[in-house]
This record gives sequence, structure tokens and C-alpha cells, in this order.
Amino acid sequence: MAKIFNRLCIHTITTKPWSIEEATEHYLAIGVKGMTVWREALAGRQPFKVGERLLTAGIEVVSLCRGGFFPSASLSLRQKNIDENFKALEEAAALNAPHLVLVCGAEPNQSLEASREQILAGIETILPRAEALNVKLAIEPLHPMYADTRSAINTLGQANDLAEKIDSPMVGVAVDVYHLWWDPMLENEIRRCGNNGHLLAYHICDWKYPVEDILNDRGLMGEGCIDISKISQWIAATGFNGYHEVEIFSNRYWTMDQQQFLRKIIKAYQDLS
Ligand code: ZN
Repeated sequence: MAKIFNRLCIHTITTKPWSIEEATEHYLAIGVKGMTVWREALAGRQPFKVGERLLTAGIEVVSLCRGGFFPSASLSLRQKNIDENFKALEEAAALNAPHLVLVCGAEPNQSLEASREQILAGIETILPRAEALNVKLAIEPLHPMYADTRSAINTLGQANDLAEKIDSPMVGVAVDVYHLWWDPMLENEIRRCGNNGHLLAYHICDWKYPVEDILNDRGLMGEGCIDISKISQWIAATGFNGYHEVEIFSNRYWTMDQQQFLRKIIKAYQDLS
């Protein structure tokens, strides 16, 4: 069982009703050693102290979620977004997180092309700070249903193009099955980012149907139509040996007993393997 859990990570938002201290205790008790920390979980805490506590407890911080949201029609708001990313990078470094996940953002009052230019400019602006802090930037493409306000980067091909254009060892991509499962180019694009060292993170959950809420109705693995095992094989074929990160936003699961939910996560993950 320990072997199976070696690469299992859970995002703090998956068990949102728990504080990060409760999540630490419960993840450890069930054998989960990886945690991706959402910035909300740090509220009212000093990130370096949280990082120290996690290290002492034996939990590895897999990444910090999230930075990004670069585009805006207003220059002053774009600067504000950059400042927020600087803050997120400082938090990631304090936590000892190897990378910051970027949800790139989109501004519905301008073209997707304009948003993409601002995303490129935004990443290039924060890159020197990321280098100085030794925190990588993981561009996470989002499903096209979020192209209005959340991300103008909607396929792994676009994320790969962007990472290759920036061409820095500090910039890569995050693959999330929820956003990318439908893409006929997915296998090729996973191979592409794996081959050039850009594959930084792998997020899993499922696409249940019908989706009742486009933000907060993600399914537990095995509950929907994503062939997660197949995608995991493509990921493994690149030589990726990072964590499989369970990232589920769900109004249904957030209202159930979280210990019971955690047990369901473990079972669903074991059933995949
Ligand atoms: Zn994700």
C-alpha cells in the first residue's frame, strides 16, 4: 500500500472544509505524503512556518496554487495582478514549493489574442523573480468553457507553445485531466512537454455528467467519463515521476464528512492503479 501512496498528493482545496493543520493530520494518518497548498489555506498564517510544520510532519509540498490571472484591459489592474504574483512567488518560496501553478486568466472585454499577449508579458515580467526565488512556473491550460474569464490558454498545445516561446528552465506546464481529456492532440502534446522537460505537474479528478456547476462539480476518479489510466500511462511514458495530484472542487463532497471523503479518494485512487 505504501508504494501506491508514494506518488499521491491531495490539493488542500479538495478537502476545503479542513484547515491546513487538519488536512496535514488526516492526510498523514491515511498515508498521503504530498500536498499542494492553495493560497486560501495560508490565510492568517506565516507561510514559512506552515512550510516548516509540513516538513517536520513529513509532508512534501508539491506546489502552490495559484498565481496567474494576468490579463486586464486596465494597465493599473495588470500591475496589480503582477504584484499579486510576486506575493504568491514569495509564499511558494517560503513554503519550499518547487513550483507555482499559473491559471493564466482572460479578460472578456478584449480579444483572446490580446489576453494571450498579456499572459506572455505577465509571465516574462515575473520570471526574474521566480528565478531568484528558485520557484518554477507551471502554466495550466484550462478547459475552453473557462475562456471568458479564467484562461485564454485552453489546450496543452497552447501551453506548450507558450512555454517553448519563453524558453526558460523555470517555466513548464501542468496537465489536468479535467481540462484536457477531450483533446485529440493530448497524447502528442504530453509527449512533447515530457520530451523537453516542461512537464511539471499532473492533476487528476473526473468529468461527471451532466456537469451541474462548471466550477464546483468535479467528480471523483472513476465517477465520470475520463480515461484517467490511459492518460496516466501517457504521462508515465514521458518518464514523469512526480505526484498524481487529486484536485476536486465539489459542492457535493465539501458538504460530506471529510474523513469519509478522504477514504473515498484513497479507494478511487487505488482502483485506478
Ligand atoms: Zn488543476
